[in-house]
Parts: sequence; C-alpha cells; structure tokens
Amino acid sequence: MKPIYNFSAGPAVLPKEVLQQAASEMLDWHGSGMSVMEMSHRGPEFMSILAQAQSDLRELLNVPSNYKILFLQGGGLGENAIIPMNLVGRKAQPATIDFIHTGSWSGKSIKEAKKYANVNVAASSESAGFDGVPDQGTWNLSADPAYVHLCTNETIDGVEYHFVPDVAARTNNAPLVADMSSHILSRVIDVSKYGVIFGGAQKNIGPAGLTLVIVREDLLGSALSICPSAFDWKNVSDNDSMYNTPPTYSIYIAGLVFQWLKRQGGVAAMEQQNIAKAKLLYDFLDSTDFYVTRVAKEYRSRMNVPFYLKDESLNAAFLSAAKEQGLLQLKGHKSVGGMRASIYNAMPIEGVQALVAFMREFARKAQ
Ligand code: PMP
Repeated sequence: MKPIYNFSAGPAVLPKEVLQQAASEMLDWHGSGMSVMEMSHRGPEFMSILAQAQSDLRELLNVPSNYKILFLQGGGLGENAIIPMNLVGRKAQPATIDFIHTGSWSGKSIKEAKKYANVNVAASSESAGFDGVPDQGTWNLSADPAYVHLCTNETIDGVEYHFVPDVAARTNNAPLVADMSSHILSRVIDVSKYGVIFGGAQKNIGPAGLTLVIVREDLLGSALSICPSAFDWKNVSDNDSMYNTPPTYSIYIAGLVFQWLKRQGGVAAMEQQNIAKAKLLYDFLDSTDFYVTRVAKEYRSRMNVPFYLKDESLNAAFLSAAKEQGLLQLKGHKSVGGMRASIYNAMPIEGVQALVAFMREFARKAQ
C-alpha cells in the first residue's frame, strides 16, 4: 500500500508513533484501568500527565523560570480577545496596541482587539499582497503601547519571521506578543525576547481544543474586570491550569508529542529537518514556472508553503491526481485559493519528496 501524506494546515498530521501509543493506551492508561478521557483532572494520574507535559515543554523551548506555561481553551481566535483583556489594563485607559499586519491571522487579531483598545497598525504588507514582513525600520510604533502583536508565521499566506523584532527602545519596553500557532516547536526560539507566546495546539503540538500560552510573570495580574475568570491568566496560573477543567485528552496527546520531540533530538534537530524539507520544496518551486509562489524569499514559511498553478484551470485535476497518489489536503485556504502544503514537524522528508515527485510528473504530463 502507498504511504499517505497529509498536508493539512490544521488540525494536521501527528507523529505515527504518538498515535500508536495513544491507541495502545486508549482503554487502560498505565494499568490505571481507565482511559485518559475518563480520568478526573484532579486525580493523581492526570496531574502527573499535566506536570510531565509542562516540564517537557519547558525543556524543549528552554522556557525561563520567570515565565508561566498555561494550558487553556478558546483557540487562537479566543486569544485575540483574551490577550487584550489580560494586558491592556497595565496602561491608562483607553490603551493602545500596536500590530504588525502580515496576513490573515494578524488581520483577525487586529479586528478583535478594536473591541478592547485603540489599535495602531504600525506596519502592513497588505497592499503588497502579504508578500513578507515590512522592514522593521519602517514600523510606525506608538510611544507607549500596551504591547506589540505579531503573527510570526502566517499559516494562510505562508509568511514567517526569521528574526525577532527589536521594538523595546521605541515603545517604552512594550512586550512582544507573538501568535506562534503554526510554527511553535519547529525552530529554536529565545522565549526571553517575548512577553507572551501563544498558539492553538492543532498544528505542531497535538489535537484541537488545547491553547498554549507562555507568559512572563510580571504581565500577570492586570486583567480587565470584564475578563472571564477562566481566561484571567493570573487566575489560571495560580491554579496551575486547573481553574476549570482543562482539555485533558488534548493535553495528554500534546505530552506524547513533546516526548516524541525529545526522542527526535529536540527542537534544534527538528529545525534542521524543517530547513531541509522546506528547501526541497522551494527549490523545486523555483525551478519551474508551471507553479508560482508569491512570498519574498527571505520571509518564506518553512511550515506552510502556498503555491499556485500558473494555469488555474488545472487546480481540480491537480488535487484529484494528488489524492490518488496519497497526497492529501493540498487545497489552499478558501480566502487565497491555489494550493498549500503544510509541512509541520510530523511530516517526514519522504512526504515532501513524494510531493515534489508528483508535482514534477503532473507538470510534465500537462505540458
Ligand atoms: N492564528 C494562526 C496563526 C492560525 O493558523 C490559526 C488557525 N489556523 C489561528 C490563529 C486560529 O486558531 P483557532 O482556529 O484555534 O482559533
């Protein structure tokens, strides 16, 4: 049987080993006689799963001790409201939030934040069709914003920051808040450069339902009074992500993914593989004009590779031929069309090789 490779942008491919382990532990976790799904979140079994997942994640991302790791619900879009509700109270009201607009997801964050604060779009690549990140020297930052929000990997547009912006001197030390939903754990990051890192789990971490927030301790404790208690990070942190019932099964699977990552050699080893996978695909795309890419080379995402067939009338044939070859979910987001290959940590290089071979053959036959 042909191997199946799943290029979905999220929920996305998970490591086979993790799924096999979850299957083998489904009915009886470590002799407890229970499935993880059936356990009280306050019992010793689940508490040990949560503690292990948090400490493995801390180790993988080298999270400094003055940062809290919170496991929440609400997804990336939920955080677009939760973040302002937690952070704008640190400034006189109405506060200002600075945004860098580099694609669909930062765009959604901007829209939501307007309910809670003044919004300053300090830079935008919208008029250039979201082809990259505007040069940071051109950013029109505010003098004293509550924070500066970035989406460091735009999942739909395929734009990734390959640098950490330096805004402190121009913004009275405003914290950087980064939506890393679609590239967290794909590359080494310096957590200490950010005030908040957040993301939905359903791409590089595990199943949907879990939302990760990594927050510097001094940013806790200023939530607006309208902030739901279950989303007040201070409250969540004081209760060790157990203020309300956390998404237990998603946390368990995320924990298995963290252990798998450690067995692969950690994030630095993963990053090398991700560089190699992305290079393979982009080198091929650059070698042909049958397929087109739109993002400037220095901002290309290693995780999400949008591309277009020059002759878009072939789109349906491309997708169905790909599916026949076991190459699944390559359709681009409906807002931008075309194709997109998401090549997260769990996508083996063989999957990218199979994709490139298929694309080459499809182009040859069509020409
Ligand atoms: N931010 C980014 C970068 C995303 O890719 C997504 C989901 N694709 C979201 C936010 C929204 O996440 P959710 O669907 O979990 O609300």
